[in-house]
Amino acid sequence: MVKFLDLEKINAQYRQELKDACERVIDSGWYILGKEVENFEEEFASYCGAKYCLGVANGLDALTLTLRAWKELGKINTGDEVIVPANTYIASVLAISENGLVPVLVEPNEKTYNLCPENVKNAITNKTKVILPVHLYGLISPMREIMDIAREHNLLVLEDCAQSHGATLSGEKCGSMGDAAAFSFYPGKNLGALGDAGAITTNDPELYSIIKALRNYGSHKKYENNFLGVNSRLDEIQAAMLRVKLDYLDSETKVRQSIAKRYITEINNSSVTLPTVFKEEEHVFHLFVVRVDKREEFQQHLSDNGVQTLIHYPIAIHKQQAYSELNTKTLPLTELIHETVVSLPISPVLSEDEVTKVVEAVNSYQ
Ligand SMILES: *Cc1c(COP(=O)(O)O)cnc(C)c1O
Repeated sequence: MVKFLDLEKINAQYRQELKDACERVIDSGWYILGKEVENFEEEFASYCGAKYCLGVANGLDALTLTLRAWKELGKINTGDEVIVPANTYIASVLAISENGLVPVLVEPNEKTYNLCPENVKNAITNKTKVILPVHLYGLISPMREIMDIAREHNLLVLEDCAQSHGATLSGEKCGSMGDAAAFSFYPGKNLGALGDAGAITTNDPELYSIIKALRNYGSHKKYENNFLGVNSRLDEIQAAMLRVKLDYLDSETKVRQSIAKRYITEINNSSVTLPTVFKEEEHVFHLFVVRVDKREEFQQHLSDNGVQTLIHYPIAIHKQQAYSELNTKTLPLTELIHETVVSLPISPVLSEDEVTKVVEAVNSYQ
């Protein structure tokens, strides 16, 4: 069976280095907000080309705390609107709701699955305060156009980089182009910890300072609390794991891109719509998502041929029970996407033979 994602194999590549890093943390006697987190923050900020980075507990908190900090700064208020792609993972939208803000779900571009500048413009009202582009599946959003719209209408931009570590647009990395960016290091992400982890990057010193307090009980100085903060810190042990794995992120991304290239050139089946890639460096292929009309039959065929597939994502956010107030909304393209997408295996440890097996299974589907 070609596994969808073999996490054990991914981490086994770095087994000794990860063990050494673990030992370093164990022996340090310091487990929360110490040298590992500080060093990782510096290294990841520099990797992204951003001035600041803050480690937090997970990707959802990275999104939530950034919006929360903008509220503390008086830049946005409860009831303000945030424009977000309707086909994203639910975490992007939960962060909006959690802050008492209103998610405005817009249809994506059908080819890129990312925000469409035209639809963003049409969704702007006098309550709009933030645009939240998600670099979905690993492909960078049209950030130039989005930033132009944001500047023209005086809006903030929060990039959701949970799936796009290292993706670049004309040499600029994601996480450095908006007003702030949120990353997830959930184990299955392109840069994955060995547990939950997340981070925020920004060039804004004020935002940095507020989030730094918010993640630690709203405190800048021990036992002095400026905000009603939370406990959302990146663990020393996870920071140490991430420092090992950050060194290999670019080489792992190259493997993902070369697998994607093989899929794109070798898959030749008129029933299967492949992802559209404009420039290779713009897509880090967290996921390789194709579209097929008869999805269940397709998945069954692949499974019969020894290939595991998954769906990202089966139910649109506006059709979820958690968002019952949105259930009457119709977003035809988003619904079509959720009905037809299938993710093929892609990972830095997928072998050439396994890629061949996937290609053959897809091409033999009728
Ligand atoms: C994974 C993911 C998140 C949330 O990250 P967690 O670390 O799981 O909280 C947010 N947005 C997107 C697009 C994601 O894929």
